[in-house]
Amino acid sequence: MTDVAANLARVRAELDAACREAGRDPASVGLVAVGKRHGIDRLQAALDAGQIDLGENYAQELRDKAAAITAPVRWHFIGRVQSNKARYVAPVAWRVHALEEVHHAEALVARAPAGIDALVAVHTGDEQSKGGVAPSQVVARVRELVQVPGLRVRGLMTLPPHTDDPEDAAPFFAEVADLLQRLRADGHEVDELSMGMSHDFRVAVRHGATWVRIGTAIFGERPTA
Ligand SMILES: *Cc1c(COP(=O)(O)O)cnc(C)c1O
Repeated sequence: MTDVAANLARVRAELDAACREAGRDPASVGLVAVGKRHGIDRLQAALDAGQIDLGENYAQELRDKAAAITAPVRWHFIGRVQSNKARYVAPVAWRVHALEEVHHAEALVARAPAGIDALVAVHTGDEQSKGGVAPSQVVARVRELVQVPGLRVRGLMTLPPHTDDPEDAAPFFAEVADLLQRLRADGHEVDELSMGMSHDFRVAVRHGATWVRIGTAIFGERPTA
């Protein structure tokens, strides 16, 4: 039996410590508790412990959980966007973390009368790592995305390749933080960086993460689907 409340308290304390070590205000880093493939009871335990930001990867799962939970939640959709599933995501997502394509943005805003707040996924690592806009294309892609009415680009997200040593992710986090500065220099009001998971969030915080996405350390191992 996973004690979600105890795990959450430990992760929050570790996140606060990582912020202090990095010389950062703990209030500047938000914790997204990633509940994919975990049941409503665990999510509810996190909410009961004061958590408000919940992350999901799969569109229908997000829709179903958002319908089942009545407590106030800021839902973060952290999975890859697909146009044919925009209708599940757009009405409930408070943030979309992994936007890539202009046509995905158009599909989302078409279903979201109040608009969409999104981060653009940046591809880091080798060919095998999944998803995201190539770093060399990010500035051009953001220039296109900000033309989509109703879309608010808030920053960047990345998911570097998993390795045993979390320090391996450091150059990738630094690269994405640098890209955020380039976007600001290009005139965009972007200030959010979604990077860092259970094993590497300390490294991400050192490199300026403003959202860390943590699943396993809070909810335990995911049931295999
Ligand atoms: C599953 C997932 C997470 C959480 O990963 P953990 O290792 O369980 O903390 C974070 N971000 C994305 C994009 C994910 O798919």
